[in-house]
Amino acid sequence: MSCDKSDQRVSAAREETTSRGETFYPGPSRNHLAAFPPKERWNDWTELDSRAWPKRKERHYSLIPTTCFNCESACGLLAYIDKVTGEVQKFEGNPEHPGSRGRNCAKGPATLNQVTDPDRILYPLKRAGKRGEGKWEQVTWDEVLDDIAARIRKAIVEDRRDEIMYHVGRPGEDGFTERILAAWGVDGHNSHTNICSSGSRQGYQLWMGLDRPSPDHSNAKVILLISAHLESGHYFNPHAQRVIDGKANGAKLIVFDTRLSHTATHADYWVAPYPGSEAAMLLAIANYLMQNNLYDRDYLERWWNWQEYLAIEHPEIETSFANFERLLRDLYKQYTFEFAAAESGVEARVIEEIAQLVASAGTRFSSHNWRSAASGVSGGWSVARCLFMLNALLGAVATEGGVYPNAWNKFVPEPIYMPPHPRMWNEMTWPREYPLSMNEMSFLLPHLLKDGRAKLDVYFTRVYNPVWTNPDGFSWIEMLTDPDLVGCYVALTPTWNETSYFADYVLPMGVGSERHDLHSYETHDSQWLGFRQPVLKAMRQRQGETINDTRDINPGEVWEENEFWLELTWRIDPDGTLGIRQYAESKKVPGTRLGVDEYYEWIFDNSVPGLPEKAAEEDLTPLEFMRRYGAFEVKQKIGMIYDQTVGPEELEDVREDRFGRVFTRAPKPAGPNIVPLPSPDGDEDGRRLAGVMIDGEIKRGFPTPSGRLEFYSHTLATWGWPEYAIPSYFKSHVHPDNLEEDQTILISTFRLAVQIHTRSANAKWLNEIAHTNPLWIHPGHASKLGVSTGDLCRVETEIGYYVVPAWVTEGIRPGIVACSHHMGRWKLTEEGQRQLMATVKLDHNGTEWGLTREKGIEAYESKDPDTLRIWWKDAGVHQNMTFPVHPDPISGMHCWHQAVRVRAADAEDKPGDIFVDTQKSREVYKKWLAMARPADRYSPNGTRRPYWMLRPLKPAREFYKLPEEEAVEYS
Ligand code: SF4
Repeated sequence: MSCDKSDQRVSAAREETTSRGETFYPGPSRNHLAAFPPKERWNDWTELDSRAWPKRKERHYSLIPTTCFNCESACGLLAYIDKVTGEVQKFEGNPEHPGSRGRNCAKGPATLNQVTDPDRILYPLKRAGKRGEGKWEQVTWDEVLDDIAARIRKAIVEDRRDEIMYHVGRPGEDGFTERILAAWGVDGHNSHTNICSSGSRQGYQLWMGLDRPSPDHSNAKVILLISAHLESGHYFNPHAQRVIDGKANGAKLIVFDTRLSHTATHADYWVAPYPGSEAAMLLAIANYLMQNNLYDRDYLERWWNWQEYLAIEHPEIETSFANFERLLRDLYKQYTFEFAAAESGVEARVIEEIAQLVASAGTRFSSHNWRSAASGVSGGWSVARCLFMLNALLGAVATEGGVYPNAWNKFVPEPIYMPPHPRMWNEMTWPREYPLSMNEMSFLLPHLLKDGRAKLDVYFTRVYNPVWTNPDGFSWIEMLTDPDLVGCYVALTPTWNETSYFADYVLPMGVGSERHDLHSYETHDSQWLGFRQPVLKAMRQRQGETINDTRDINPGEVWEENEFWLELTWRIDPDGTLGIRQYAESKKVPGTRLGVDEYYEWIFDNSVPGLPEKAAEEDLTPLEFMRRYGAFEVKQKIGMIYDQTVGPEELEDVREDRFGRVFTRAPKPAGPNIVPLPSPDGDEDGRRLAGVMIDGEIKRGFPTPSGRLEFYSHTLATWGWPEYAIPSYFKSHVHPDNLEEDQTILISTFRLAVQIHTRSANAKWLNEIAHTNPLWIHPGHASKLGVSTGDLCRVETEIGYYVVPAWVTEGIRPGIVACSHHMGRWKLTEEGQRQLMATVKLDHNGTEWGLTREKGIEAYESKDPDTLRIWWKDAGVHQNMTFPVHPDPISGMHCWHQAVRVRAADAEDKPGDIFVDTQKSREVYKKWLAMARPADRYSPNGTRRPYWMLRPLKPAREFYKLPEEEAVEYS
């Protein structure tokens, strides 16, 4: 296990108490309050019962680890299970978890609310009226499975595989469901990523072939965040604690955020740029480094693909590094501090000070752009690209205190089965208009179906609520209520949500402590594996009980998804004739269905280096070890994988091309988490890319087409976007030049630190802390509009409007407004989450839709006495419904920022009112679609997408080829 600071603190606390002569801290836990329960005592942990005070009543607990499922960080939790009642009393942090080190945010302990939520869905439900009518009947799991399995089987047999779609929001696992779809032979994976983080991912992918950064904040000298990592952002708690470690070690923190976030309040430099201008500021900093020789020349010469750039774009110049440097300075000299100041509204002097600070960091410069600007504006991917350029200039890539590529700081074990790539291409998720899209064009689904391109027979959502989460929610309602577009909609969810009301089946799934998953994330320079597990099952198995599946221990008939998917797969192909059943079959007892215990046992026994040995030290099997501790650190200090020399065993009949790419006939090295170059194209003779020649040695390099860091993207140049082939700044859809005079920008993307997108209406503690989303507006702006805090405003978008109270604050750039996306939860009937969902009336006249609040939040009687203590009334406003789709033509990211008109509300307006015309949504969709450069016209090689680019559930390679027929014109 790791021996990091938190572990040291625990040990120190124990040693201190014993050396002082006191046995332990007074109290039954015999532990210092600031320390964690030592793992040796997790089997019988004793605490005083706080409710019995002043009586000293002891309670005995089994501490069982699991993983939080309330954001993507996957922090470790410890469930305190009362040995007498057999129930979870509370969740705290798991000190054995290398990523979170025992710490959690408020949402982790609130898992308990989700378990005990009086409004949770406990049984499988089938629609009994029209979709959306709110009438349900309880059905058995057998009925559900047989019906859905028969539909899927029929679609597969009739070769309608493109009519099966699984749409996931927060996966919370590494690849299980993708492999289920692959087993079915279905290219049906749809994600939420293009409404979340595709902008940043694209920027990082273009540079290094991997789509996420893993910053080493703890060891940095300077940290630059274009994100809010102290309260949200990707891997936020693990990263937040390391940002604070870095600051404690003397690092300076720079934050770019138009809004005064919690993160900005901790910054040494907080700047609030005009939204969309961030790349101009970053390029001004880059230019400063270039013009003043403050970059790492040797690093650029070794690792940037400058030879390729010069040879292709400037054949008239001799290919020498000196010539490249001259050109580089010339290319970027336009990005002066004054230029950046004019674009961003941040003083040139301040940008220059920041540039000097960045330059002083050397290779200890850590940076992160997540969501924020990259998800807000067209071309937002360029923000991440320009930010990473600073790391690339400083050589701060996979250095201590620098930024690592994500895939090398996570560990993905091999599973028990690896089904082949699907032999099809789904145009509903990867339409040909967006060949470079980072992820599936998920938020366009209603429009693609309305275009008449296809229909869906079986549509699953899981941890996803597209009506509420996506832009243009009324178009989703139109899609879901049209049986010609969606045959059967199945909502897998632990809790009611706005989309599930339109489902045919609502299937109750377990929350974080009621299910299995594996995950590993890039929290720091290490590789770890976390294990989510149903904690009651783990405890009862430890006591010698046999638990068949999670329905035996979960409330009602709540199930876990992995068991559901295995059983569904088994029933789709009960006799194995479709070749599907084999991927859900036990290896131990052939002919029977694979169980989750065997599934994880196989992985821990066979695919996690060091785990069997570590477990044996404690006389445990690997599965027992993971059930006991919940996480395992595979390796620390991964370092510069790209700089590793490729061994002779990987070199066979090699060939080097003019840019130093070395191709080999040797197979890819096997082994866990080695990340070899993907050899996307290989050479003409069928060799794969092995590495790049650097100073006479073959180095492993990056998984880009060039094998180097790509300053120059030959992909962009040849797929129709030559103007963006190198990092650059361009005017976004909300640049002042593109706004009308009375328009302003609405920032609609920021998270609240204590809410979970769409999934925390079932967490009473969180709801009490945060239950509304007023419009942030600067005092000067507010006085021009004549509004004060609490006054209602009308925010008019391209397709409609919403009504929201103002919050007048200096924490926002003057002239810009902001509203958190977390609120505005609603339900159509009394059924649903009563703690945070207002009851609304949905009006509908042709393409015009309105939503008005009929009843706010009220106290109510339930098995939980706290529901009678509910004091809040408001539930905020559902603003996303009033946003049209804005697909970035390159990354495919929905560009969230809105050009809006804000004014004092009309007298008849009520808080939470929404109005939208979906005909206008269609027009905006078509306007943005026209900006795309489709593969039909721009593909340089007749394929739908560059093969090297990341893609979940990659189809077999031959299905990348565009069909021969002419491009389809859609209405
Ligand atoms: S950051 Fe909070 S919500 Fe996210 S996994 Fe960690 S404890 Fe859970």
